[in-house]
Parts: sequence; C-alpha cells; structure tokens
Amino acid sequence: MLLDNSAKLTRFRRQVLDWFAANARQMPWRETTDPYRIWVSEVMLQQTTTKTVGSYYSRFVERFPAINVLAAAELDEVNRYWEGLGYYRRCSQMHKAAQEVVDRFNGQFPRKYEDVLKLPGIGRYTAGAVLSLAFDERLPILEANTERLYSRLIALPENPKTSESQKQLWAFADRILPKKNVGRFNLALMDIGNAVCTVKEPDCTDCPVVRYCEAVQAGIQHLIPLPLPKEKHIDRTEVALLIRKNQKILMIRYHPHQRWAGLWDFPRAESAAEIPLEIAGDAVLQRRLAALTGRQFEPGKVLKTLKHCVTRYRITLYFCEGTDNGAAPLQNSERCESRWVSAAELAELPLHSTARKLALFLEQAKVF
Ligand code: SF4
Repeated sequence: MLLDNSAKLTRFRRQVLDWFAANARQMPWRETTDPYRIWVSEVMLQQTTTKTVGSYYSRFVERFPAINVLAAAELDEVNRYWEGLGYYRRCSQMHKAAQEVVDRFNGQFPRKYEDVLKLPGIGRYTAGAVLSLAFDERLPILEANTERLYSRLIALPENPKTSESQKQLWAFADRILPKKNVGRFNLALMDIGNAVCTVKEPDCTDCPVVRYCEAVQAGIQHLIPLPLPKEKHIDRTEVALLIRKNQKILMIRYHPHQRWAGLWDFPRAESAAEIPLEIAGDAVLQRRLAALTGRQFEPGKVLKTLKHCVTRYRITLYFCEGTDNGAAPLQNSERCESRWVSAAELAELPLHSTARKLALFLEQAKVF
C-alpha cells in the first residue's frame, strides 16, 4: 500500500510533480501567489466551472484588486460583479470576510489556518487551498477531482460523501503531502483528477499514478466512486409579482441570513397552486408575500412562466400582475427592504438569476 511504504510515497510525489511540470493547466489565478486573488478564484470555482469563472475572475479583480478595496465596496456593487455566477451567498460572505480581514488583520490575509477557518464562508478546502498555494503551507485539499482520484487510489468501498469516507479521504490527502511544493502538489492532483482520472473514462494507461492505484489493481476503477442513492425531485410552485405604481415597480432585497442574501427580486413566495387558476385563491401565498413586503397584494393575470431547478427542487415560477388591496401596512421581522424602482434602476440592481430573466422579459415585451 502507498501509505505504508515511504520510498513508494517519495516516488509517487515525484511522479505527480513531474506530470504537472509537463501538463499544468494555465489559468489567470495560477499566475499569482497573492492569497486574496487565490481566495477569490477558489470561492468562484465552488460549484462553477473553470471556463465560466475565467471572465468573471478577471473583471472582478480588475474592479476589486485588493482585499481592502473589496471590503470598502458596497455589497450591491460586489453582487453586480458576481451576477450570473449563482450561489450568491458565497459573494456576500466573501465581502463580509474581507471586512473582517481589514478589521482584525489590518488588511493582510491571515497565515494561520485556524484564523482563516474562522472567516465567513471559508471551509477546510478553501483554507487549505489558499494557504498551500499562496504560502506553501503543508495543508491538504479535497474537492470533486481529488475526491474521485483518492477514492480510486485507495479503492474506497463506500460513497465518498459519507462522514467516515470523508475522514478517510482527508487523512489520505494529508499523509501524501510532500514537505515543500505543497501548493503545486495539490494543484497537480486536482489536474490529474480533472484530466486523467475523469468521471466516466479514467485514462489509466496514461495515468502518472497508475502503479499506486488500488482500484486498477482490482479492476474496479469504473465502479468507484460508489454513488449515493438517488434523491427524488420535489416539484414546487412559486409566484413572483409585478406590482406597479407611477411608472415604477416594487422590488425587495433579501436579508443577509437568507439564501439570496443582498440580492434584489420581485416579491416572490412559494404557492400551493398546481395550476395558474388556483393562484388567486391561495391565502397562504398572500400571507407569505405580505410578510416579505409588509403590504397585502392580490395576484392577477400570469404574464410569464419559468421552469428551473435548484438542487432537488423542480420549480415552476409564475410571474403575475399584482395589485395592492389597500390593507394597512404590516410590521414584522421577516419583512425585506423594499424599493420602488424605474426601468433604468432595475437594469442596475444586482438581481437573483430568475429575476434577471423576468426583468429582460419586461424589457423585451415592453410591459414596463
Ligand atoms: S489509474 Fe486510472 S483509476 Fe487509478 S488514479 Fe489513474 S486514472 Fe484514476
């Protein structure tokens, strides 16, 4: 076994680094050792492909070239530069973490692993990636590519997401690290996972670590990683309202603790309606919308229907006209910030992705 033999482990590390010297992928965030820029790229790359991140990263670091610039910016503007990348909570947490770095570490990205882990939105992977890539700290990483690669190297008999498997994989990732060139070694393993030990067709004949791979020795590389049982889709209906007054429309902004923290949206809530005709009679929907906006609205005609998926939810979103029923405003803690905006202001607000589609629809259909 690889871990039981130090000579084998030394050869393994050398072969990984030699392979990387000849095959490394070029990316803008790999040309720097600035922990801030590496951090930005790592946060963007969570749940998003390298190809998509490319142009976002360049635009973002051009506008926010240093951590103190990001910390000083308004969240609305930061969100605007993030719009389209999805998972907006990443963005608001990064903004908050930048402010903490300015307040607590004088604007210098901390070097201690424990300090980095305490920053909002930073987990074990991101802390290990930033510190190993920027400062060559001896810290392991585990993300989708290395998770698959390590699972095959040790012929992991369980799904890699179980807590026992995660412990085993992190321990493996830690023990294979060299004493120096840790950042390059971590990158090399991610690239081997991405380019060679691929999901469907691992290229074992050209794999630099084939001689250490227990899955290949057992002929089970196509069976690993073991899948999790499939989750069932859940159908869900949501209603968003177009509420107009004096050439303006009402928009709400989500609270920092909510899923789309800091982003703007049309007043939107879940509905029990299965068909559009049932929306107007959905009293729970009306209460939810009232809780969000502090006003009571009645949904009217459906203007547009969007279907999309978020994790295991298959969402049908009905975009309806809404009218104020004239009831007195409500006071409650869930109420979001709201604003009446013009068409020009709507174009500038950082919007939730489906809200952006609805805004484009309004513009194209000349409804607003
Ligand atoms: S030998 Fe094949 S299965 Fe094993 S690590 Fe390399 S590509 Fe993956």
